Amino acid sequence: MALALSLPLLSAAAPPAQISAERIKAHVRTLSSDAFAGRGPTQIGEAKTLEYLAAQFAAAGLEPGGEKGSWFQDVPLIRYERVGPATVSVRVAGATVPLAIGGQVTAASSIAGRTVLDNAPMVFLGYGMVAPELGWNSFEGADLKGKVAVFLAGDPDFEAPGAGAFGGRSLVYGGRFGAKAAAAAKAGAAAVLVVHETAPASYPWSQVAGNEGAPTFGLRPVAGAAPAPISGWLHRDAAVDLFRRAGLDYEALKVRARDRSFRAVAIGNATLSAALEVRATPVVSRNVVARLRGMGRPDETVIFGAHWDANGIGAADAAGDTIRNGAVDNATGTATLLEIARAFGRGARPQRSILFIGYTAEEKGLLGAEYYAANPLAPLETTAAVFNLDPHVVIGRARSLDLIGGGRTDLEQDLVRVASRHGLRVEDERSPEAGWYFRSDHFAFATRGVPALAFRAGRDLARGGKAAGDAAIEAYNAEHYHQTSDAFDPAWDMAGAAQEGQVAYELGRDLANSRRWPRWNDNVEYKPIREASAALRR
Ligand SMILES: [Zn+2]
Repeated sequence: MALALSLPLLSAAAPPAQISAERIKAHVRTLSSDAFAGRGPTQIGEAKTLEYLAAQFAAAGLEPGGEKGSWFQDVPLIRYERVGPATVSVRVAGATVPLAIGGQVTAASSIAGRTVLDNAPMVFLGYGMVAPELGWNSFEGADLKGKVAVFLAGDPDFEAPGAGAFGGRSLVYGGRFGAKAAAAAKAGAAAVLVVHETAPASYPWSQVAGNEGAPTFGLRPVAGAAPAPISGWLHRDAAVDLFRRAGLDYEALKVRARDRSFRAVAIGNATLSAALEVRATPVVSRNVVARLRGMGRPDETVIFGAHWDANGIGAADAAGDTIRNGAVDNATGTATLLEIARAFGRGARPQRSILFIGYTAEEKGLLGAEYYAANPLAPLETTAAVFNLDPHVVIGRARSLDLIGGGRTDLEQDLVRVASRHGLRVEDERSPEAGWYFRSDHFAFATRGVPALAFRAGRDLARGGKAAGDAAIEAYNAEHYHQTSDAFDPAWDMAGAAQEGQVAYELGRDLANSRRWPRWNDNVEYKPIREASAALRR
């Protein structure tokens, strides 16, 4: 009896388990092997991946946390597949200029059947920002009905000297492709093209081209406003040429577009014609969900998540390889999730429940996480926090952690405290213009008010310092991110992933043994959403 009574106290004081770099590496090796076929949702690699994750969670001593006592949550999707090649051409100043699909332009549609544009006038909207609170509306006075809306990537501050209305270099949500496309669709645009520049897009054209024609996915039932019939990227060189032919100066217009007085301009008399056909098929993918039931307050939840999917089988690269193994993105995060689950399974049971979620279809637009957040298996109002594992680089032992999208929640102070236990400094991410906070699964929770934290092993490496860390990250983003070459390397040192996992594990463990409800900072748009349900958290 005495022993039973003292267990909770002992458990809180027990030292945390150690996250193993070697075990993470072994999982990464398995998950990114060709046998898993790049873990494409609804492709042949899915079943094997789901089976592996469920088996690992079971071995960690967790219980199924999915639907009907299973390890899974069905995620109903629609797959949009291109039928035959697309064609795109521009007519400008009396000349017809065909645009090479994949070379100068990409075109996608989520409308089933054949979509044809016939000489739709082209309009340049600058950065396409809608921010009434800042007195900014790039759409004001623009008639986009049936027209092609052409945007710059990113937000107006990125290349502006000094801080601007949009918080300086860091990307605001309105600067994302999806936000501009939605605003243009609402205004009746027939097509949306964003000019690709590597820095604000945060990935090279080669990656855009690599995805051209690949199937896209959406959640079922289709909700929200209809998208523009066609959307795509326009290569910068093609944009510069188009503007020149139309008698406009692309670079000069870019500078003008940084000012809130900028208004949409017709791209001379340029019109765009395009044709493509899409087949829409209902399909089902799955999130994997494991649960560790809390001992004291099981109805309160802490979530650890990582997307299990990668880009699967697709077009062959120059060497004929068709599998984008996703070893870093995101076998590494998935492996770390499994190791954290194992650490919890071995240790004393926490007071709050923990959910471990392997999300599907992150690469298709955070679809698995969106579906979970819209159909949660534990109430979001009493989900204390979400920790996301999506590391994007393999590095050795680091002296720092990179915080993604800092300045949003008091979980960041917890991060600093736990990191310092391990001799790690917390630094702001290096490329805030890439908008990483909006680009992984935790965002689906943030928009519904659940405090969410994302961080990665940092750039300051024990061996080689920041120069080595910067070089590793830049090389990964330029050469391997989302490509066939994101494959397992036996020489990898996963010490950085283990550090990241250790900190995430201890953060979650502390929170799961506390009564604290993390908060959003003042002025963060998700704060009022969370506060609306404050009465449910005591
Ligand atoms: Zn990822």
